[in-house]
Amino acid sequence: MQSPWDYPDFDDHEVVHFVTDRQSGLKAVIAVHSTHLGPGAGGVRFWHYAKSADAVADALRLSRGMSFKNAMAGLPLGGGKGVILADSARTKTPGMFEAFGRAVEGLGGRYITAEDVGVNVADLVTVSKHTKYVSGLPAAEGAVGGDPGPHTSYGIYLGVKAAVKRKLGKDSLEGLHIAIQGAGSVAGGLARRAAKDGARLSIADIDAARAHRLADEVQGEVVAPEAIMTVEADVFSPCALGAILTPESIAALRVPVIAGAANNQLLTPAEGALLLERGILYAPDYVINAGGIINVASEYLGDGDEATVKARIEQIPGRLEAIWDESEASGRDPAAVADAMAMRLLGRA
Ligand code: NAD
Repeated sequence: MQSPWDYPDFDDHEVVHFVTDRQSGLKAVIAVHSTHLGPGAGGVRFWHYAKSADAVADALRLSRGMSFKNAMAGLPLGGGKGVILADSARTKTPGMFEAFGRAVEGLGGRYITAEDVGVNVADLVTVSKHTKYVSGLPAAEGAVGGDPGPHTSYGIYLGVKAAVKRKLGKDSLEGLHIAIQGAGSVAGGLARRAAKDGARLSIADIDAARAHRLADEVQGEVVAPEAIMTVEADVFSPCALGAILTPESIAALRVPVIAGAANNQLLTPAEGALLLERGILYAPDYVINAGGIINVASEYLGDGDEATVKARIEQIPGRLEAIWDESEASGRDPAAVADAMAMRLLGRA
């Protein structure tokens, strides 16, 4: 049996918790990568994994990603992540989220939870019955909070525009073709904004009905999930799951820009260099997708209103520019440059 220390994704994580609750059937992993800059903050994912080891690997990878993301977003937070192992039908019960809340509370504030794939605001309200270390709850009138998805979408939209400006020299998305993988919360927000700007959209989701609903709304075209990464377009925006940029998929890409929300888009760090070799401009995932955590952090820390959150999200393009500048100057790929910047901030350089 593989111990957490032996996982390729283990990166001196401070703690990794395995949670089992017999009554609700909850099986979860909570990984806290770093609390160097503050409590380990990051959402909880509800997903079906073929093997439980895949869930552990995901928690390790995603929590490390949160450390990097929070550091690069300038937040006083470390990195953590929860993963709930769903059955193949992804049956959700309030009991599971109550048990998850008790587990989070038991960590005494070392981990702060919020939404991620498969988890919505209502689930977090259930979690919040048992812990105060939770964010992404319904916002009180005029206060910051709620679903981070729209804030992430806003940051992705700004990041896509920055990448388009840099690579294609265009100030607007008008007339550009954007291929979006996923038709969920973040993809939907991006698609609506881009459509408003006059972009043409190709959309794929393994949930065909979801893809059709979004495509109808934005007058886009539905593409089969297995075909979205070979669509010829101006931008490919991965807004579904991670590890999609592999040597094979990169060789087949027909886009000059990749800018999207999915966490851990690169299979390994080596793929960042492959993108650079192919002349594809890459927006490092955890930098461009920080909008949601910026909102979650303000809600949790109570340190800003809607305008402050918006202004903080609007700093994302500037951070991307700094990374692309350093990449150009050093010849290193943008993902490697971002990692080095984050490691410095985490005191792990
Ligand atoms: P979501 O659950 O609303 O949507 C994800 C969609 O991707 C679903 O419709 C799902 O059916 C689809 N999907 C899964 N596998 C796919 C595949 N192989 N091909 C095509 N579609 C596929 O999730 P979301 O909140 O929109 O998040 C999207 C991505 O962005 C995730 O990777 C998430 O971790 C990341 N992210 C989200 C936020 C946020 O605030 N919601 C913040 C940062 C990063």
